[in-house]
Amino acid sequence: MKSFKEGQLFIVATPIGNLEDITLRALRILKEVDFIAVEDTQHSQKLLNHYNISKPLISYWSEKEKTKADKIIEKIKSGQSCALISDAGTPGISDPGYLLIQKAIAEGISIIPVPGPCGAIAALSVSGLPTKEFSFIGFLPAKRSERLKKLHELSFEKRTIIFYEAPHRLIESLSDLLEVLGDRAAVVAKELTKLYEEVIRGNISDLIKELETKKISGEFIIIISGKEKEFKNTKSLDEAIKEVKILMKKGLSRKEAVRKVSMDYTLSRRDLYEKSIAD
Ligand code: SAM
Repeated sequence: MKSFKEGQLFIVATPIGNLEDITLRALRILKEVDFIAVEDTQHSQKLLNHYNISKPLISYWSEKEKTKADKIIEKIKSGQSCALISDAGTPGISDPGYLLIQKAIAEGISIIPVPGPCGAIAALSVSGLPTKEFSFIGFLPAKRSERLKKLHELSFEKRTIIFYEAPHRLIESLSDLLEVLGDRAAVVAKELTKLYEEVIRGNISDLIKELETKKISGEFIIIISGKEKEFKNTKSLDEAIKEVKILMKKGLSRKEAVRKVSMDYTLSRRDLYEKSIAD
């Protein structure tokens, strides 16, 4: 006998790597529902086989979300219960789910969360960066111009910022973060809960240096500290001008020196450039 009412939608979190990271309740729900909506059948089959769960599966991935959502809603309305899972972690978090949930709400279907792992929260919990307030961005745009635009929008964000990133774009995105946000404290969390788990901490430039020496593969989360409140006024324009001059003596052009210093001091590049000429 089922422990819940018919015709409900369960949003079930599954492991982000280590198959033991699943709650007892999630396993019970997966065993009791009539069918499971999954992103990738092959991928989820591994988890389900591991726990001897055999259920009809409906594949539900981003491109098919619209048509598949209607089919799932129809089944739930006919009295069947459904668990939505994604390839890893919490459905809907940089994963499909949003559309199905919207449709279920519109149809008056009860939606029950079955919480568990989420990469962003796991990474934040070990980051050592402030956890009191944070901003989750998910994946940055793949196109550089759009990525830079997004980062400029975030440049005054005071809360800790969390990004998901694909391995082939990791260095590129870190370099853009460095350029737009300055050399802030940051963390790269790799393959959490898996065999090659690694958490690298430092300033963004340190992380880039370290990662450039490694083969980059696996899953990554980047966490950056927010803009510090006192940052803007901690150093004066005079100090910034002095630093520009020092960098120019070291061989940087005025433009390069101004770019570098303006990031550290959160001063407008144009102001610093003009004042460094006038000084
Ligand atoms: N829904 C998932 C969650 O709750 O975290 C996220 C799915 S999203 C499609 C996949 C991205 O999450 C990866 O590209 C990576 O940035 C991050 N991620 C997921 N699992 C991870 C892990 N074990 N270690 C590091 N990053 C992970």
